[in-house]
Amino acid sequence: MEARLKMEHQEKLHQEEISQMKMRFFINMSHELRTPLTLILAPVQEMLARCSERWMRDQLKYVERNANRLLHLVNQLMDYRRAELGVFKLSVASEDAFQVVKENFSYYEKLARHKGIEYTLVSDLEGKKVLVDVKYLELIVNNLLSNAFKYTESGNITVKLSEEEGYLLLQISDTGIGIPLDRQKRIFERFYQLDDSHMGSGIGLSLVQRLVELHHGKIRLDSSEGKGSCFSIYFPQDRSAYSEEEFYTPSGEKEVTLHSTNSKEMYFFDTEKPDYESADSNEGKRGTLLLVEDNDEIRSYLNSGLSSLFTVLQASNGQEAVDLLKDSEVDIIITDVMMPVMDGIKLCKYVKQNICTSHIPVIMLSAKTDIAAQMEGLQIGADDYIAKPFPLSLLISKIQNMMRTRMRILEKYSKTMEIEPEKIAFNAMDEELLKRAIEIVEKNMDNTEFSTEDFAKAMNMSRSNLHLKLKAITGESAIEFIRKIRFKEACLLLKEGRYNIAEISTKVGFNTPSYFATSFKKYVGCLPTEYVKRPKKGEG
Ligand code: ADP
Repeated sequence: MEARLKMEHQEKLHQEEISQMKMRFFINMSHELRTPLTLILAPVQEMLARCSERWMRDQLKYVERNANRLLHLVNQLMDYRRAELGVFKLSVASEDAFQVVKENFSYYEKLARHKGIEYTLVSDLEGKKVLVDVKYLELIVNNLLSNAFKYTESGNITVKLSEEEGYLLLQISDTGIGIPLDRQKRIFERFYQLDDSHMGSGIGLSLVQRLVELHHGKIRLDSSEGKGSCFSIYFPQDRSAYSEEEFYTPSGEKEVTLHSTNSKEMYFFDTEKPDYESADSNEGKRGTLLLVEDNDEIRSYLNSGLSSLFTVLQASNGQEAVDLLKDSEVDIIITDVMMPVMDGIKLCKYVKQNICTSHIPVIMLSAKTDIAAQMEGLQIGADDYIAKPFPLSLLISKIQNMMRTRMRILEKYSKTMEIEPEKIAFNAMDEELLKRAIEIVEKNMDNTEFSTEDFAKAMNMSRSNLHLKLKAITGESAIEFIRKIRFKEACLLLKEGRYNIAEISTKVGFNTPSYFATSFKKYVGCLPTEYVKRPKKGEG
């Protein structure tokens, strides 16, 4: 008997080890699956956006729907691991739970219409504050609703939110296939499924249970086979149910780790038409992008989608990008976060802290799970980020918007005589640079020998760098920049009427009045003599 007990014990340990190994395997795999899934979903969306043929659209919708399902499962696995690792630290606050539930409820409205299910939200808590961690609440609602729709073919699904004896009560009921009594306990176990006729991982409910436990709440299940199921979740409303650390503190830090993988963008791709212009509708490529991504396939997919619209330079890590930046003019950088050799954060830091590149906008691409990295990126000056997976159309729209904004600023700048650093510079560093540049040109206003060489020297930059930099910020070369400031001064002096044209031409650094006059005409559109006669602004 002793020997048998020992063997049983050994056997149990062995089983546990195997189960742990399985879990680890699934979780590692789930990470690996996200990249190819992104690469399936993104092109499918592109195709859907362009395809108008009915049969083809239907096929693509199948692919899309199922890829989305897979993504959902992968995200569930990752959420589960994060709950296991204690990443989901409870952060309870007084919140409008109704709003949160309503928003998550609405994600399924389309599906309900599609399946012909009567779908209702009932609550008397509208606008009322209750104690809850909204991230937990969202995850729970999403998982329960996704199950309700999975296991219900007709009838109705109801979400109810109420308060009951010191608890916030969330009920999600359906008229689906139901769960036999003898199985009801087991469905909360991880990987447990009643049958394999439905796509699933058997993780959703164990995640829900884990989250409810962490929230010090309770779950009740009422279900009968063939009739339907009702899941009731109770969230304690008594403050004493939570420890001091479990209340939300506005440190900002926590918010970051609390984000779930399964946010709506993750499983609800927008397949509506893209709102970007295609290359055929305009005069060709606009601008140069530097695409930094270590995954060859993703990079080449993005490249193929972007290269018809922009000139695309590619780098497979931050260091390669830095090397490329040294001798190419780049309008926008698009970079992944996690990369070998030099990651996206370091690259962004380099770009933003280096005077030669600080004007270049940076868009970061990162997995939802890298929220901390995203925040870091934004803090060090990244201009935007996009969570993976994303439809290509979104990235294109963002790039085009950025370029358009920039173009508008430059256009406006080129039409005025004013140089206002705070209006045209991208950031404090560029603003500082422009201010210094203006100061130097003003100091040399009457210096007829003042060359771009001297200008660069005074700026502590090489001539080509100064040229690139000014071109990038103002859209004009160093010479044009100097001219602009000189002619602005000339205009002022002409209007003042204290000096004659010959005097003014020396005051603004021209050797001869005739050269001044011809240049002035080219720049301002009329001769200095004509300019004097023109009515001043506001006088006519
Ligand atoms: P799955 O990914 O398989 O849906 P879950 O952990 O979410 O995993 O659920 C475990 C099992 O519980 C499911 O396989 C299903 O058999 C059963 N189940 C969950 N929700 C419902 C429901 N609303 N109606 C009927 N059966 C359900």
